[in-house]
Amino acid sequence: MTEQTAAVKAVVRAIAERLEAEREHLTDLDSAIGDADHGGNMARGWAEAATAVEDLDDTDVATVVKTAGRTLMSEVGGASGPLYGGSLVFASAELDDGLTDETLVAFAETYLEKVTDRGDAAVGDQTMVDALVPAVHTFKKSIEVDDLPAIEALAKAVDAAERGVAFTVPIRASKGRASYLGWRSVGHQDPGATSTLFILETLLATTRE
Ligand code: ADP
Ligand code: MG
Ligand code: MG
Repeated sequence: MTEQTAAVKAVVRAIAERLEAEREHLTDLDSAIGDADHGGNMARGWAEAATAVEDLDDTDVATVVKTAGRTLMSEVGGASGPLYGGSLVFASAELDDGLTDETLVAFAETYLEKVTDRGDAAVGDQTMVDALVPAVHTFKKSIEVDDLPAIEALAKAVDAAERGVAFTVPIRASKGRASYLGWRSVGHQDPGATSTLFILETLLATTRE
């Protein structure tokens, strides 16, 4: 197993631990504007994903990411399972040649593209897309225009995602369950944007170690 493969497995494990720690927090957010299952969905799905990738011997990073995505798709119902899982499976192909600045940018862009293809949400619909678009755009720009190392680009992406999460609060939901609330969704932080931020924060913290 390469160093990169071991690192990606460790990231999946760390994400599972973080989302388990945030289970109640995400449940509370989803209770306010949804059906109170986002904490459980994420904690359970990522715990299963961590177990599934742990069981892979002698594999590459793309397979680790694909396996995590497949597990999320099969373990998590609702909106977030196919959005997170399906997009990870699809984008994992960008990592066939391992982790480089180029493959990471391609991965991020393809992941975002798949989320918006599947969910048909745009920025301003109060979904995970509100965290993801600024994160992916900032990551790409930081690498391709500002020539920053991937780790610094990721730090900037995390800051951008944080602002995206804050942006979900004062807007109305137009996609997903929260949209059923109409104007009553205004004033609430989106659970999926929040879990996206937690995942990116964990990615950054794990990579910095
Ligand atoms: P469900 O809403 O089916 O119970 P979850 O609670 O696990 O699923 O996930 C809810 C999150 O999924 C929302 O907070 C939002 O970020 C995201 N979401 C829902 N619908 C969409 C969509 N069409 N596009 C993008 N993200 C979406
Ligand atoms: Mg829900
Ligand atoms: Mg649900």
